[in-house]
Amino acid sequence: MKNYENRPKESANNEADILPGVVAAMEAHAQSEPAGEVCGFVYDDRYVPLRNVSGSNRRFYADPADVTIALSRYGEPKAIFHTHPGSDLTLSAEDFRMWYYSSSTMIVGCLENGRLRWKMYGNRGH
Ligand SMILES: [Zn+2]
Repeated sequence: MKNYENRPKESANNEADILPGVVAAMEAHAQSEPAGEVCGFVYDDRYVPLRNVSGSNRRFYADPADVTIALSRYGEPKAIFHTHPGSDLTLSAEDFRMWYYSSSTMIVGCLENGRLRWKMYGNRGH
């Protein structure tokens, strides 16, 4: 497994990269589980929520069945999205460990006054 410690490049919210409708779907998913972590795949034209089967609200592990369905229907995601309870958008050690999906872009989100705030990490394709 590669060491990604030096890889992530932070970028501020860049609405141009993700369609507003996709962001709205991510936000709705986050709002459905404000005290826990939600995760999903972000595509150019859609957001696909994945069940978090980690059994913890401090980390995420996407249901392999959901992942398989999403990959077969829509292909590789543009980014992997997950939320953090609270307001910390910093990647955790667990996040680096889980970064085995083929997409190298990760989006971390959190709710602030009920609205989604998010940050994109990674440099896709490198
Ligand atoms: Zn995380």
